[in-house]
Order: sequence, then C-alpha cells, then structure tokens
Amino acid sequence: MSAQQRPVAVVSGGSRGIGRAVVTQLAADGYDVAFCYHSRPDAAEEVAAEARDRGARVLALRADVADGAAVREFVTAAEDGLGAIELVVTSAGITRDKGLLMMGEDDWHGVIDTNLTGVFNLCRAAVFPMLKRRRGNIVNISSVAGVLGNAGQSNYAASKAGIIGFTRSLAKEIGPYGLRANTVAPGFIETDMTDALTEAQRTELTARIPLRRWGTPQEVADLVSFLASPRASYITAGVFQIDGAIGL
Ligand code: NAD
Repeated sequence: MSAQQRPVAVVSGGSRGIGRAVVTQLAADGYDVAFCYHSRPDAAEEVAAEARDRGARVLALRADVADGAAVREFVTAAEDGLGAIELVVTSAGITRDKGLLMMGEDDWHGVIDTNLTGVFNLCRAAVFPMLKRRRGNIVNISSVAGVLGNAGQSNYAASKAGIIGFTRSLAKEIGPYGLRANTVAPGFIETDMTDALTEAQRTELTARIPLRRWGTPQEVADLVSFLASPRASYITAGVFQIDGAIGL
C-alpha cells in the first residue's frame, strides 16, 4: 500500500496505555496516525517510532483535549500533515478518585473537562470534515464505571456515562450520512492509570473478575481495530464492554 492510500486516524491520549496500543495497532492495520498527548514527550516519541516501524506516517502532538482551540489545531495539523481523517479514537482520560464528600470542584471539573468535554472537542472538530466527505468512523473509550458506577469515582463514572450518551446521540445524527460511532467500555486494564492501586486492592479486584485476570491494552486495541474496520460496517451506537465479565 502506498503512503497516499493509507487512511488517516486521529487518536487522543496516544502516548500511553490503551491509546498507545491503539496507535500501534492502527499503524499495523494500515493507517497513518496523528495522536495527541498531555505530558511525557519521551513516551510519545517511543510510540511514534513504533508506529513508524509498522509503516505509518505519524504525527505526535502535545495538546490538551480539554482545550477546544488546541484540539482544533491538532485536527487541522493532522489533516494538513497526513490527509483526510477517516477514524477518530478518543482514549485521553484521567481519574481523581474521592468520595463525594471529599471531592472538590477542581476534582469534578478536571475529570469532566478532560474525559467528557475532551471527547466533545475532538469529535466536534473532526466530524464536520467527515460529514462533508460522507466517510468516517468514531470509537470513544468509556469505562465499565460509566455503565455500573463505582464508589469513589462519581466524577469519573459521570464522565464515562456521559461518553455513552454522547456517542449514541452522535451515532444517530451521523448515521444518515454513512458514518458510525461506537463506545468501548473497558474493565480493569494494566496501564499507568491503574498503577496507583495497592497490591491488596489488586488482589481483591482480580478475585471479582470472572476471568480472574486483568485485560491488556492490546486486547482493547483489538476491539477498537475491529470496530474501525469494514467488518463492523453495520455496527453503530453500540456499547462494548471488554472486562472479563466484571461489569455484569
Ligand atoms: P493512561 O494513564 O495509561 O494514559 C492516558 C493517556 O491520556 C496518556 O497518553 C495521556 O497523555 C493522555 N491524556 C491525559 N490527559 C490528557 C489531556 N488533558 N489531553 C490530552 N491527552 C491526555 O490511561 P489508560 O489506562 O490507557 O486509559 C485510557 C482510556 O481508557 C481513558 O479514557 C480511561 O479512562 C479508559 N479506561 C481505562 C481503564 C484501565 O483500567 N486502565 C479502564 C476503563 C477505561
């Protein structure tokens, strides 16, 4: 496949964890990839190199998804640098876990702004050109916490439940134009985000997972890759839990 023929994907939060696995998987699938990240340019450069090794042209840009103007610049840079965007994957996300009584306004707004407004910002910026071309596909990363709720995560769960409602609504808006949008809701996945848990918490959580293990970023990336592909051409507005059955 020549460089010109490769479709273009934009990924938020591509420097680590699930986003990183998505970037490298999409590169292997034949995409050129633009991804944004928040910190750790060293990690971003590693991912970019890995994706280039898989034949992709790659753009790695620091951009805060909570900042609408920065996201619009990121999307413009992706289209100018790589070409028409066909796929959007939103993986940027943070946690600030606290019981409600201890949760400050900063904890609330910080998580909502990054996790939910961040998804709005990227989809809002990328969907218009996709609608004009009648071609495009969106996969937003939520969480089982957004489906079930989780004590100590009311901010995070609200942001992730919001992503589900947002994505289902978007799917209904863009469906008539031939565009699809789906939500992936992971359970416990081994990444930096879950590093903060103690060994005792991990053991307790693992015992609650019917498959008795955590998922890997690659397993989530494989689901994203499928939803992005023509093999999923009649799947839209879906919410796909990938959680070893903890979310039942
Ligand atoms: P991670 O902490 O390993 O990586 C987060 C990524 O998001 C990084 O690339 C970081 O740079 C980026 N990011 C954070 N804030 C950003 C901002 N304001 N602007 C731009 N980029 C930003 O996290 P992860 O575990 O890979 O999680 C990825 C997504 O999956 C998140 O949305 C998370 O909520 C969701 N998720 C994770 C798990 C899990 O167990 N790890 C479970 C369910 C859902």
